[in-house]
Amino acid sequence: FSRRQFIKGAAAGAALGASAGLGLLTPDNMLAVDHSASKAAAKSTESRKVTTICEQCVWRCGVIAKVENGTVKKLEGNPDHPNNMGKLCPRGNAGIETLYSPDRIKFPLIRAGARGSGLWRRASWDEALTYTADQMKKIKDKYGAKAMMFNSTDNLSQPFFEILLKAFGSPNYGTQRSLCFNAMTTGFLYTYGVPQPGTDYKHCKYMIFMGRNLAEGISNNETQEMIEMIARGTKVVVLDPRFSKTASKAAEWLPIRPGTDSAFFLAILHVIIKEKLYKADFVKTYTQGFDDLVQEVKEYTPEWAEQKCEIPAATIERIAREFAAAAPAAIAHPNWRTSNFKNSFQTERAIAVLNALIGNWAQPGGLIPDQEINTAKLGVLSHPPFPQAQGIRLDGVPWQYPLVPLSYGVIQTMRDNILSGKPYEAKGWLISRQNPILSIPERQKTINAFMKLDFVAVIDIQASDTAYYADVILPESSYLERYDGLIPIGNKIFIRQPVIDPLYDTKSSLMIYKELAEKLGLGDFLPYKDERDLLAKQLKPFPITLDELERAGHYAIPNFHEDHSKDFEFQTSSGKIELASSIMAQMGKKAVPTWDEPPRPPEGRYYLLTGKTAQHTQMFTQNNRWLLEVFPENRAWLHTSVAARLGIKTDDDVVLESDVGKVTIKAQVTEGIRPDCIFMVGGFGHVSKGLRSAYKLGASDSALHKTVTDPLSGGSALSETFVTVSKA
Ligand code: SF4
Repeated sequence: FSRRQFIKGAAAGAALGASAGLGLLTPDNMLAVDHSASKAAAKSTESRKVTTICEQCVWRCGVIAKVENGTVKKLEGNPDHPNNMGKLCPRGNAGIETLYSPDRIKFPLIRAGARGSGLWRRASWDEALTYTADQMKKIKDKYGAKAMMFNSTDNLSQPFFEILLKAFGSPNYGTQRSLCFNAMTTGFLYTYGVPQPGTDYKHCKYMIFMGRNLAEGISNNETQEMIEMIARGTKVVVLDPRFSKTASKAAEWLPIRPGTDSAFFLAILHVIIKEKLYKADFVKTYTQGFDDLVQEVKEYTPEWAEQKCEIPAATIERIAREFAAAAPAAIAHPNWRTSNFKNSFQTERAIAVLNALIGNWAQPGGLIPDQEINTAKLGVLSHPPFPQAQGIRLDGVPWQYPLVPLSYGVIQTMRDNILSGKPYEAKGWLISRQNPILSIPERQKTINAFMKLDFVAVIDIQASDTAYYADVILPESSYLERYDGLIPIGNKIFIRQPVIDPLYDTKSSLMIYKELAEKLGLGDFLPYKDERDLLAKQLKPFPITLDELERAGHYAIPNFHEDHSKDFEFQTSSGKIELASSIMAQMGKKAVPTWDEPPRPPEGRYYLLTGKTAQHTQMFTQNNRWLLEVFPENRAWLHTSVAARLGIKTDDDVVLESDVGKVTIKAQVTEGIRPDCIFMVGGFGHVSKGLRSAYKLGASDSALHKTVTDPLSGGSALSETFVTVSKA
């Protein structure tokens, strides 16, 4: 935006303000407000280092920020932090650009034109919060608290968002986990009674990855541990229809047919049982349902699996034997992004059961029982009892999905309920740091749902696609300008603290939640004066002051011993690892993992696969100009033979069309993908004009994805979307 355009825009805003009593702002002139609007472009000449926590993704790595003359000059990894051991990934390194982005929302905004028109006016915090609270109260008074939905990402202040929702009395809460790992969570809950066991990479001798692409979906310390593991000689086998970067580092890449991973694992189970390669003592002592499993997998021979998954029977047999020989220091990884097919729950159950058969539970190189076991007990807030939430949840948890944790939810079903109005109609949505418009399948349907709501408020640092369709944007300070709740990891407590004062008229989510609660008459539920008061309360059980913690960056609890006494107490109905699930049996379903035939694309269509790149985080970082320099847009990967047949070359524009949408995207012709698949990195194709660098860059997978849901885990079956490809 040139200075002349800025002045012109400001003059137009002033004129409108004079005539209408409003300072009308479009996103363009809103974003043109530069650092002169900042509260604190510090003038000091000091040079200092501040220890804090990264938030360029959800992994929470330790950061040491170098500040000179009030400006953040460099971010480095904190060597004392177990999540990253001194290293930052590309996204973490680019955090400074997130802080200083010209597209930050700099003050509260209230919609001043039609929803989604991009017309806003500046508001004071008092006005924006009062307006938000009034709209929420209006919905509650007229339709009940249940008509208000709440949505938040996994973050350090999420527990306080959940207090706000519970105090309000709504049962409707969602995260975006049903677009990621609900199948893994429920598969392991049904088997071990824990949603997410850890993995001991350090001692592992044999690893099978199915949906964990650690070289691109970076989870810092795990990525480092995977690289060390490979260098150490651990055999890594990757099942992936695409030659991912993790596959490129593995000993063996198996380009499996999409949706058939459970056939592969059922056949591995078949071989291990038939050849008696399992740990018989462990199975006898700690599991139940073995006989049912033996009966079920009898028919799943490697030859049968080869017909399904297109991995040679001899390869499956060999891997089964190698895997069992490495036990218990062998892991079939639980995986993360498992939102692939309606049978993904069965795949995760087969993986959970396979780990049980080789007895790797709580063994070096195997599954780690419970990552929560080391969590230090922080001080908690005392508040009045929560009111009883009225009504069932709109996402079907738990009545339809009995083992999906309440805090995970099934977000695509929430969206569909807005449109259907059944079993009752949602009227409002408060969304904190989430972007459902770009994440939920069938983007247009999601936009339609937003247009139907009475009220939408969004808390974010930038004008995300969802914020663009909101009525109020409550601007949050970036992670380098704010406090969040404390984070205990192992025997240490870490702090996210401001590296510099907020540049603009923004607040931490801790204060936004608290002040909104006060406007709603619910202030007693978040009883802290400010962030430091809250953190001091959390720190109360420990002999360290907040000032000391801020200086040190973390506190190590002395004489801390890990408690392994409950490692073999499984929180399942039987108290054992359930090879045959009691709950599945109670629901009248097959209790052991079973084969569920996935759909295949009809002639002329391709599986649409989506995944990550190491340079971006879901749909959050595409507006970061530093990251755009290294990964400027997503492309459609297609196999050389398909490209030759269709006359497509790399860099050509191609049209992908599914049953629900159509996008144009640049082609990447490669041998590194099965001929029946198209792959694209997710998170591009933004519709918000407030994201000036990312707007319309690349294409959105959510515009193509169909809404199909795994009936057991609530996971979105994203890969059951088939597309045609043609030259644009
Ligand atoms: Fe930040 Fe990267 Fe760590 Fe995520 S993995 S918290 S982006 S450094």
